[in-house]
Amino acid sequence: MRKLFLLVLSVVFLNALFAQRVIIHCGQLVDVRNLQVLKDMSIIVEGNKIVDVQKGYLTAATNEKIIDLKSKTVMPGLIDMHVHMESETNPNNYLNGFTWNTTDYAFQSVVFAERTLMSGFTTVRDLGGTGANISLRNAINKEWVKGPRIYTAGKSIATTGGHADPTNNYRKDLMGDPGPKEGVVNGVEDCAKAVRQRYKEGSDLIKITATGGVLSMAKDGSGAQFTEEEVRAIVTIAKDYGFKVAAHAHGAEGMKRAILGGVNSIEHGTYMSDEVMELMKQKGTYLVPTIIAGKSSADSAKKPGYYPEVVRAKALVVGNYIQATFAKAYKAGVKIAFGTDAGVFAHGKNWMEFVYMTEAGMPILEAIRAATLSASDLLGDDRLGILEKDKLADIVAVDGDPTKDVKSMGRVKFVMKNGVVYKNE
Ligand SMILES: [Zn+2]
Repeated sequence: MRKLFLLVLSVVFLNALFAQRVIIHCGQLVDVRNLQVLKDMSIIVEGNKIVDVQKGYLTAATNEKIIDLKSKTVMPGLIDMHVHMESETNPNNYLNGFTWNTTDYAFQSVVFAERTLMSGFTTVRDLGGTGANISLRNAINKEWVKGPRIYTAGKSIATTGGHADPTNNYRKDLMGDPGPKEGVVNGVEDCAKAVRQRYKEGSDLIKITATGGVLSMAKDGSGAQFTEEEVRAIVTIAKDYGFKVAAHAHGAEGMKRAILGGVNSIEHGTYMSDEVMELMKQKGTYLVPTIIAGKSSADSAKKPGYYPEVVRAKALVVGNYIQATFAKAYKAGVKIAFGTDAGVFAHGKNWMEFVYMTEAGMPILEAIRAATLSASDLLGDDRLGILEKDKLADIVAVDGDPTKDVKSMGRVKFVMKNGVVYKNE
């Protein structure tokens, strides 16, 4: 026993001796709590954690390494609260649904995951796929593949014929009758089973499609598709497993039911009414705007044959609405967390959302806060989203000054996730 104790003690001691401390010299550092840019700062990283942040450029002792980012703007690793890692917009996507196996989606997602991490997003919330997104999260955690830290919903939950019912518009012999296991529910009992099934499969949170959606093969893109009772049942069961609930919603009635039912975030929020904004403020519900998704699907809809006709018609209308709604909701004081719906457009372009958010009137430092501190609040993970002592070392740096040129958010030159450097140009 004594021998074992001594062994453990010496291992701990040796680790402390050899764990290399890294000092990062930051020309500019974004303070997301106080919305200011600090000059000439040092961040000290040990293992996967930030152990201190100090004014000035600290010098290195033995066993300490310096990373020079004096010509860069440094900020917390960015968080995208709405992505789909398994797929990317493509005119063949509807056909792929019939010809691809889950393994094809899984291999493809590896490419998108690395691209996402290298563009500065060290954490993402995956809001729906085949379930390969759960394996992807595990593979990244095991460091088999490079990618952001993933919180995944696994398969999202819809009602019959609703947005994300996996057999919408199929011919009858293929349509079948998907149920809670496949993420399709009707009534409160199904809701309980669907949430528990997600738990069993390894999801981190629940995503529901509270209204119709643009890219599904169905006519209605915005009507309510869950009853308030069904939403409440999902939220209640989700709490048993520590799951938060994200609700896709375009129309106001579906949003209202979702918010009253207790969801944590409204995704897209396209036709949000003043009443809904008030309700969100009262309940503390977040809006995750995804402006870029609206704009890029409207652009794709202009290309002949890109989408099936039923989708094209919806994409043209909904697409350009989101930015104006976001501007209104921001002004009204609704809580905002950054999210893009990456996959609906090319992965790696997530940063363009910063351009659209600032265009709509949100100052860039607030937009960066939405993608860091506010996002970590919505995730319920207080280890992320800010460069302070004891937080995880998720640190990125861009060329230039985002407060002077928002496009510098697209010039990510340094990426550290969990204390590991993935990019340093
Ligand atoms: Zn989505």
